[in-house]
Amino acid sequence: MLVTPHTLSLITTHRCTAACDHCCFSCSPTVLDHIPIPNLYRYIREATEIPSIKVVVFTGGECFLLGKELDNLMKSASEFGFYTRFVSNGYWATSPEIARRRIEKLVSCGLTEANFSTGDQHAAYVKPEYVRNGAVACADMGLTTVVTVELFRESTFPFEEFISEPRFKAHLESGMLALKLAPWMKFKGKGPLSFTNKYMEFVEQARSPDNGCYTSLKVLAISPRQQLFACCGLPVEDIEEMHLGSLLSASIKQVLSRTPDDFVKIWVHLHGPDAVIRYAQKFDPTIPFPKNAAHICDACRFMYHDKRIKKVVMENPPPNMMEIMNVYFQSLMIPPRDVKHSDAVHLARLGDSLPKLRATHKLATCNA
Ligand code: SF4
Ligand code: SF4
Repeated sequence: MLVTPHTLSLITTHRCTAACDHCCFSCSPTVLDHIPIPNLYRYIREATEIPSIKVVVFTGGECFLLGKELDNLMKSASEFGFYTRFVSNGYWATSPEIARRRIEKLVSCGLTEANFSTGDQHAAYVKPEYVRNGAVACADMGLTTVVTVELFRESTFPFEEFISEPRFKAHLESGMLALKLAPWMKFKGKGPLSFTNKYMEFVEQARSPDNGCYTSLKVLAISPRQQLFACCGLPVEDIEEMHLGSLLSASIKQVLSRTPDDFVKIWVHLHGPDAVIRYAQKFDPTIPFPKNAAHICDACRFMYHDKRIKKVVMENPPPNMMEIMNVYFQSLMIPPRDVKHSDAVHLARLGDSLPKLRATHKLATCNA
């Protein structure tokens, strides 16, 4: 399949220091699946065979469980010329000083971007204060730093208190640090998880068919089982169509070259899963719109799992199918704009000023 991904995301392990309710991969301290270390180096090397890839991401589970190997992997990726990012729950940033020392080491190995996650579920295992320590240390060192906070109706996370710490707030206001509110998505957890009507209205308006899914076909991910995926979405391991193939006996480039062009992936990339669901509903009105699918990936999981949608699209391809394919293929011809490591912060901050984030948080958690 012709793709021009800009990022390779390495799901280094499913092991985690936390065991958040509804974790997308059911990670926990007792799950041991991981990509063998030599293969992590192999995948970084193979990413150089795909010239459009500019960023290598280390995620999990918890990638800091790699210890010093994380530093060596960053160094390897950096020496190949990649920007490097980690995604972490911040468990290691137990004090500002410890956080500073850990980040200094990673920066000396070429780290350029940091992503942290927190919220109600994370806070049951990692103090939000640790996340702040880590994020402040990263922003102090000029790293592109994004903190994602879970969002759902039942959330009691002390959002105001979290963002009010003076150094954290100063970085937020100066633009060194971006905060993202992300709807928490239902997986195999036990706790309640829902969204207010007002938040769902807000989400539906924001998810316009012109935007599509910007990570589909642009971010490739590799799982601990060493499957190559066509996106880095939360339910990616549960969507068969996103599995491009095993890397156990083929390189990333070989798997991509064997993958046939897939119209639905292209459609989702350009117009999002909502567009596909709404199209299918015209032919089969029994297909519901997924309730409570605040996260775009939730709608996508529903779309791929509902056999009726697949059937409708196969039997009645949309009349503008060729146009959609052409737009996609033409987009591949446009030389990719120079990706900067600060893009992640700019993207996360797009239109999300602090007052706007406060308003969104209230909308999503207030039952009024
Ligand atoms: S910190 Fe992330 S990877 Fe770990 S259990 Fe929580 S959601 Fe899963
Ligand atoms: S919307 Fe679908 S294609 Fe996009 S990241 Fe989520 S699961 Fe992947």
